[in-house]
Amino acid sequence: ETTLQGKVALVTGAGSGIGKASAIRLAQAGAKVGLVDLKEHHSEKVKQEIESLGGEAVVSDTDVSDPTRVEESVKKVVEQWGRLDIVYANAGINGKVAPIEDLAPEEWDQTLTTNLKSTFLAVKYAIPHMKKAGGSIIITSSINGNRTFSGFGMSAYSASKAGQMAFGKMAALELARYHIRVNIICPGAIETNISQNTFKDKKDLEKIKIPVKYPEGSQPLEHKAGQPEQVAELVHFLSSDASSHITGTEVFIDGAESLL
Ligand code: NAD
Repeated sequence: ETTLQGKVALVTGAGSGIGKASAIRLAQAGAKVGLVDLKEHHSEKVKQEIESLGGEAVVSDTDVSDPTRVEESVKKVVEQWGRLDIVYANAGINGKVAPIEDLAPEEWDQTLTTNLKSTFLAVKYAIPHMKKAGGSIIITSSINGNRTFSGFGMSAYSASKAGQMAFGKMAALELARYHIRVNIICPGAIETNISQNTFKDKKDLEKIKIPVKYPEGSQPLEHKAGQPEQVAELVHFLSSDASSHITGTEVFIDGAESLL
């Protein structure tokens, strides 16, 4: 069953890219959606888009690395609709791209906190509300969690994405008793703001000898970066009862980019 009628979802990083497309897709399938993003990337426009499609959404301006704010945003959704069925821990940054010897400890921390600690926080604060009825948690990792993507410069990002994979599997094991499924999505290059923000100055990358592959990607399947809407279809499937026997798995969505 792929309808999400009567279900409530929380999506982090919902103001842009994969999170935005997924929030809209879940709403189209009938879910009510809590939209979590930074204040400056507020999700008001996404809320309006969902409402224009006849759906319901609430916005929560939240830094996903702040435990108090994450707990509050979960509560906001539960207070609004009385339940929580789907959590999509998706917010993330590429962070500082630099060779390891030039990467500052604070830059390492920022990437790990924004991508990995945030995933732990979203799951942690959702569990009490999902325990009774079960549900589905989805985590956006990356193909970079399993291999390096462009030689070097993204050690912190890759470590955070590998951490999300390991954490997601442990969560799947631990939460199976509550019928909460946990799955990890590993996209290849997807056309969103994340790559533009990091790789906007290609000359800088050349200076530190990082081969530039983004944003074109080089997928054997389509020879171009994937679209957020293609990832949103997978998020919808993993959110729905159509995937009721799938948990603790990594799903690569990359047009075979990771096989190159
Ligand atoms: P995006 O930049 O379009 O969207 C990411 C969103 O997360 C933004 O709206 C941003 O404001 C939000 N965000 C960042 N830090 C936050 C914080 N501290 N608190 C709250 N919100 C925060 O990028 P995207 O490509 O849609 O990225 C979504 C996820 O997909 C990320 O985890 C990213 O690592 C992953 N991913 C992306 C690609 C790609 O090629 N685009 C590939 C693999 C994995």
